[in-house]
Amino acid sequence: MPRGVQLVAVSKTHPAETILEAYNAGQRAFGENKVQEMVSKFEVLPKDIEWHLIGHLQTNKVKLVVPFVRLIHSVDSLRLLLTIDKEAQKVNRVIDCLLQVHIAREETKFGLSSSELEALLGSTEYANARHVRVVGLMGMASFTDDMETVQAEFQQLRQIFEHVRTQYFAQTATFRELSMGMSHDYPVAIAAGSTMVRVGSKIFGQRNYPPRG
Ligand SMILES: *Cc1c(COP(=O)(O)O)cnc(C)c1O
Repeated sequence: MPRGVQLVAVSKTHPAETILEAYNAGQRAFGENKVQEMVSKFEVLPKDIEWHLIGHLQTNKVKLVVPFVRLIHSVDSLRLLLTIDKEAQKVNRVIDCLLQVHIAREETKFGLSSSELEALLGSTEYANARHVRVVGLMGMASFTDDMETVQAEFQQLRQIFEHVRTQYFAQTATFRELSMGMSHDYPVAIAAGSTMVRVGSKIFGQRNYPPRG
């Protein structure tokens, strides 16, 4: 990986032994998209693993991850952010979060629009949340081989990121992560300014179900 880009190894569907092999080779950041699966793996694997939650998070599952999660990439509503804040307070942690922005053409993708993003960041509820720290943005490009479309979407997210940083985080250096790029599009994402790529099948091989399933 280029300097300044962190690799999150997406280990979803793969067993703990596979993660341990990558761990023994030096990898520490792993991404999971299902809460239960991440908790089960956390329980049996070395405690210095950084667990990244990259999939959609339901509010009723937040309390299961806040004791140990390193970064939640997929915060897509104020309600979810406030739930994380409330549960993090109970365990006396401050949880780093990324706000997920919708950039793909597909309707089904989770994520905030630019206006929803600004409404969240401008709200008093967010201003009063002391146990969450928004450290950046996350996005997924359209699932297509048309790399011009993918590039345009990543560049759009980069622009939103720069805008948000100057508008809402000018006084701090903590807003600095841009999580974009997966196995098939991470070089395009890095060229567009990604600081964190989430790569699964390129490291661990194919999964038994479609990645966007
Ligand atoms: C599964 C997944 C990835 C990794 O996908 P690959 O194509 O296997 O690299 C990245 N991000 C999210 C949100 C995922 O669900």
